[in-house]
Amino acid sequence: MGSYIIKNQKVEVSDSLLIKGEKALVAKENIDKHTIIFLYEGTATTKRTRTSIQVAEDKHIEPGDFGAFANHSCNPNTQIVANYDEDNNVAEVLMLSIQPIAKGEEITFDYATTETEVTADLQNKTCLCGSKNCRGKITGFYSLTSQQKMDLLAKEITANYLQLKN
Ligand SMILES: [Zn+2]
Repeated sequence: MGSYIIKNQKVEVSDSLLIKGEKALVAKENIDKHTIIFLYEGTATTKRTRTSIQVAEDKHIEPGDFGAFANHSCNPNTQIVANYDEDNNVAEVLMLSIQPIAKGEEITFDYATTETEVTADLQNKTCLCGSKNCRGKITGFYSLTSQQKMDLLAKEITANYLQLKN
């Protein structure tokens, strides 16, 4: 359970440009760097799903009908910043642009920056992000090579529970 505190009006759920037949978050207008795409607050659960976002070790939130459409990219244009309140078992999940996003562009984040693992139906699926630095398949952080983990950590967009030792 949860709700949106902010949902950027310049963003809509539309057809994915990366994955045929899938939906995505798409920019309706140009969006500046450091812009909030959404802020969602919800109750955390221990259940990982295809669309959940991890917010702490073994804690996940289900970001409703908007954030759930954010697809993965190995070269994402946003990052997720999650703040998990252990006492109340609620989390705030902020999606923030990390570069300017052009009108018509798909809004993505790197699943390995939040997810320690991904669901079985996603694990090792061919990545269709099309970026130069594409890792080739979709995985959580734990399945990356040491080099990939180091590269990702160096970008400083990873969740705080993801460390090289994982
Ligand atoms: Zn990729």
